[in-house]
Amino acid sequence: MKQLFNYCYIPGYNDESLTTKDAMQTYLNSLGVDGIELFHYKKDLDVVSVPVFPTVGVHLKYWPYWLDFWQGNKKYLKKQFANVEDLKTYFFGAANKDEWINAIKENIKRALEANPEYLVWHVSDADTENIFTFSFNHTDEEVITATAEVFNAVSDIIPQNVMVLFENLWWPGLKLTNKKIVDTFFAMLKRDNVGIMLDTGHLMNTNQDLNNEEEAADYLCKTIENLGSAKELIYGVHLSSSISGEYVGSFERTVPERLNPEKIMQHISQIDRHQAWTSSKIKNLFHIVEPRYVVHELYYNDLQDLAKLVKKQQSAMGIY
Ligand SMILES: [Zn+2]
Repeated sequence: MKQLFNYCYIPGYNDESLTTKDAMQTYLNSLGVDGIELFHYKKDLDVVSVPVFPTVGVHLKYWPYWLDFWQGNKKYLKKQFANVEDLKTYFFGAANKDEWINAIKENIKRALEANPEYLVWHVSDADTENIFTFSFNHTDEEVITATAEVFNAVSDIIPQNVMVLFENLWWPGLKLTNKKIVDTFFAMLKRDNVGIMLDTGHLMNTNQDLNNEEEAADYLCKTIENLGSAKELIYGVHLSSSISGEYVGSFERTVPERLNPEKIMQHISQIDRHQAWTSSKIKNLFHIVEPRYVVHELYYNDLQDLAKLVKKQQSAMGIY
C-alpha cells in the first residue's frame, strides 16, 4: 500500500524550504509517505511541483455543476450563469458539449504528463443553490448515467496502464450508499482498469446522525460491506474525518442572500471537514478493504502542519 497526501499548487503558497527534490524526499521519508496526489485544477499542468514531488496520482479538474450543460437545459443554465461568457469561463472555454469533451481531454493530457499511476474523477452534480436547499435537480441515476457518457467519450486517450478511480461525494451521483447505483455505473463504463476512490469524509457526510468517529467507523464499514463484491473495486482511499451532522442539521434550507464564492466555500468546508482521523476504530475499515493507495486528504496550512496531521492519522491506523 502506498501512502500519499493531497497537494495543490497555489502560487505564492509553496514552502520555500521544500522546493528541491532532495528536500522533498527527506520530508516524505520522515513521514513514510511515497508521494502526492496532485490536484490538477487549471488548464496548464503545474510545472512547479510536478518536478519536485513524486506524483503517484492526479486528481482531475472537476465541475461541481455540469449536468444541465451536458443535457442542454438552457433554462437552468440561464439561472446559474449571468451570460455566455461566464458559462464559457466556467467550462474552460467550452460553449457546448463537444468543446467541453475537448477541454476534458486536454485536462487529462496535461495530467498524464505527470506520469501518474492513477487519475481521480468525481461523480457528482449540484448547483450553487442545491447545496444550500438540499433539494436537487437530478437523481443519482441521472448523474451516474451522464458521467458514464462523458467518461466513455474521452477514455480512449487514457493509456490502459493508468487506472481511473471514481470518487464518491455526498451530493447526487456516486454516494456509495446504494449498491445498485454502484453496479449500474460500473457496468456502463466501456473501459477496464477502473475502480473506486473511497473518500471516507464524503461518505460520512451522507449521514447526519454520526456523533463521533467511533459511530462513523461503524457506518463506513457497514456501508462498504453492503456493496458486496463491488467493494473489491476500492483501490484507493481518501482518508479524512468529517463529523458535520450538527452543522447540516442547523442551517436553514434556503439560499443565502448575495451568494458569492466565499460563502459557498465556507459552507462546503463546514460540511466537508477533511480533518485528521484520531480514533483507532478506522482500523476496522482497513480490515475489509485493501487499497493500493491511501491518500491523507486533509486541509492544512503548510507542509509542517500537514506532517503533524499525517502522523495523527497514521497512529489511528496503527501504522506508527
Ligand atoms: Zn477526496
